[in-house]
Amino acid sequence: MSYSQKHPNPRVIVVGAGISGLMMGLLLGKAGITYQIFERASHVKALGALMSINANILPVFEQLGLLKEVENISLRNNGSIIFNSQMKEIGQVRVPNYMELTGYDFLVFSRPELYEILLRQVPQDRISFNKRILSMRESIGGTRIYCSDNSIYEGDIVIGADGAYSAVRQNMHKMMETNGAVAPVHDIKDMAMPYMCMVGTTGPMSPHDYPHLKDSMNHLHHVVGADIHSWTVITIPRNRFCWSVMVQIKDQNEAKEQRFRNSEWGPEANNSLIDEVKDFPISFGGTLGDIIKATPKDRISKVMLEEKLFETWHYKNVVLIGDGAVNAMQDAVVLANCLYDLTDLSPESLTAAFEDYRSQRFREAKKQVVNSKMNARVSSGQSLIEKIVRHLVLNFIPASVMARQFSRAAAYRPQVAYLPQVVERGSIKALPNRPSKRVMYEKMLLRNRRVVETPCDSSQSPCTTSVGDRNAGVSVNREGACLLI
Ligand SMILES: Cc1cc2nc3c(=O)[nH]c(=O)nc-3n(C[C@H](O)[C@H](O)[C@H](O)COP(=O)(O)OP(=O)(O)OC[C@H]3O[C@@H](n4cnc5c(N)ncnc54)[C@H](O)[C@@H]3O)c2cc1C
Repeated sequence: MSYSQKHPNPRVIVVGAGISGLMMGLLLGKAGITYQIFERASHVKALGALMSINANILPVFEQLGLLKEVENISLRNNGSIIFNSQMKEIGQVRVPNYMELTGYDFLVFSRPELYEILLRQVPQDRISFNKRILSMRESIGGTRIYCSDNSIYEGDIVIGADGAYSAVRQNMHKMMETNGAVAPVHDIKDMAMPYMCMVGTTGPMSPHDYPHLKDSMNHLHHVVGADIHSWTVITIPRNRFCWSVMVQIKDQNEAKEQRFRNSEWGPEANNSLIDEVKDFPISFGGTLGDIIKATPKDRISKVMLEEKLFETWHYKNVVLIGDGAVNAMQDAVVLANCLYDLTDLSPESLTAAFEDYRSQRFREAKKQVVNSKMNARVSSGQSLIEKIVRHLVLNFIPASVMARQFSRAAAYRPQVAYLPQVVERGSIKALPNRPSKRVMYEKMLLRNRRVVETPCDSSQSPCTTSVGDRNAGVSVNREGACLLI
């Protein structure tokens, strides 16, 4: 076996404490890799609404011992119903046997609750809040990030988990330019913003007024309005609803302006949209205004919906993850697997590891982006093309074809290669998971009764010891990466 027993302990900087950044940190901790997460927000904001996860990522939650916790915040879903603005049903999408096919439920929940579960797994001192990354530069010891509070940190690897308008991505493009490399035009072009979206989660409501809340299965109802609006309301545990309103954007310049004003998900500037939609009916009874009223004001947020799959995922020692919840978490899993197998930190080894990560993920990420665009078109699209697509999908695609499509998607279930594997469930065979070379090597050593290197668990105690040696003159602070003073 051509594998080395040596393993570097890179200092990893993760930018962004969103769902992908937290998952990344959690997995790095399990791998014994030193990491620090830098987040621009001053504290955790309980924002966001409807989110769903499925067999494509639930095996990882099972590996992490978190499956029960995720099930506890979720309702099981087996499809959705689409209505027109007169509350007449225009179609259904049903997946009645998802559990039988995949061995996992299709779970829906409110985003902040999944966020809380992940946050509890990451030691508090591994996250530095109030750290907005402004720029990034190559240095002799690795790459430095420059924060808005004038602090500077250095790491061997920088992972951008900072969302759709990633500062890490923009700075990576600048680094490429400085070195005479050019990012593909597709990556630099502005993202199209077909929809603006306002979301929220209500407080508990009366099951007497809304009997659907009593069901243990989730109800997911989309309404396609008469003009540019569409809205979705779903039931979630503890007698609450998650809701979202989508507004088709006709003027892209106005959209850019709005995005600039609402660059962070936040409760600002929602009132005029609330006024616009408050009288729209909902299928559970009453109006959107009723459930918006039952939603704490500071829990309502507005965002532009954009979807774009970038071509460039890494450059030198900078690598990017994230794009939609499931995709983002799968990125974290596959990248963590590649980092676990690193045998040194040479530029060649880092590039090979990142390229391996991209090649394992790109095709699947692309499929998911296509699927989620199609789902959005079918459930909420308001353009003429989207109306035609909806009509065709709901009326002419047989249920068996839809089920086949679903089955194919459920076969991709990456697992954390360096944690015990979970047994395969469901009747759809999972695609094979690539084993970790390092795990295989260590097993071989065990068999040969040699000494095995045990990875330290940085989630228990930060491994900062070797960092100073590599960076004479640079002090090591409690944040694991280097603070330059
Ligand atoms: C507050 C919030 C609410 C959301 N609500 C929903 C929802 O209701 N439904 C849904 O489907 N999706 C929602 N999303 C998006 C969804 O979480 C992501 O698309 C998906 O989970 C991928 O996650 P991510 O961690 O890659 O990116 P994000 O979830 O976008 O997280 C990126 C993180 O990076 C931080 N960040 C950004 N720039 C910098 C910087 N320069 N320096 C330091 N930190 C930075 C952000 O503050 C954020 O915490 C929401 C995202 C956020 C941030």
